[in-house]
Amino acid sequence: MKAWLKEFALRADEFVFSPFQSYMKVCDILLIGIPGSGKGTQALKLVQKKSFFHLSTGDLFRYNLKEKSSLGLLAKSYIDKGQLVPDFLTQDMVRDFIKNIPQTKSIVWDGFPRNLSQSEAFDDILKKNNRSLTKVFYLKLSETEVIERLSGRLYAPKSGLTYHIKNKVPKKKGICDVSGETLISRSDDKKDVIKKRIAVFYEQTKALLNHYKQQNLLIEVEAFVKPDELFQKILNHFKSF
Ligand code: ADP
Repeated sequence: MKAWLKEFALRADEFVFSPFQSYMKVCDILLIGIPGSGKGTQALKLVQKKSFFHLSTGDLFRYNLKEKSSLGLLAKSYIDKGQLVPDFLTQDMVRDFIKNIPQTKSIVWDGFPRNLSQSEAFDDILKKNNRSLTKVFYLKLSETEVIERLSGRLYAPKSGLTYHIKNKVPKKKGICDVSGETLISRSDDKKDVIKKRIAVFYEQTKALLNHYKQQNLLIEVEAFVKPDELFQKILNHFKSF
């Protein structure tokens, strides 16, 4: 098994014996939202509170980049321009990765699929792994709010936590409260790249909303609220499935 897959697979096993596992049915939840709408933050809450496995294609690319794998270096050339990494690379990475996640584990999908073509591959990946999509949450947020959030964002690569220079200041300047690592700015959180990422969302990802609406899977939630409030809104919908 590739080294980078191994490290992530260990994360997949971390919560296997959690008490939640005994009574929660296996769910596959997809989060869709404009960059900066809080998908990653909500996904981490599902990991902590509901023992989900967080499958983030953005994190997988960044991990590959940190390891300087050929996939990581190739992906960087797209990420730094705010473009999508080509579908075949992204899909192969996900196909490879999901083999390591036990079928008894619920997954929160963050950042995949991002266009209609990926959604076809997604259906196939789920089917081949005996999974099915439970619900899709669309985190709705305005463009202005997103630019404000992302241009002040600080990121802790190991813990996956995010901070903000004004709205979510770490206890010690530049240091992650949990892991103690140095916070960085993501290379794609520059204003011009943010604008491109937003444009890509409208051009390609937004089409998924109609797609999942037609399948009666889509739930829209207003994301211009505090993270805990948004999480509560999401959890309230869990009662219905
Ligand atoms: P955000 O949702 O804020 O854009 P992510 O961490 O999910 O942040 O993604 C960062 C970048 O990684 C994207 O701009 C894109 O270049 C690449 N990426 C992530 N997921 C995909 C995907 N499903 N398809 C193609 N590229 C992707």
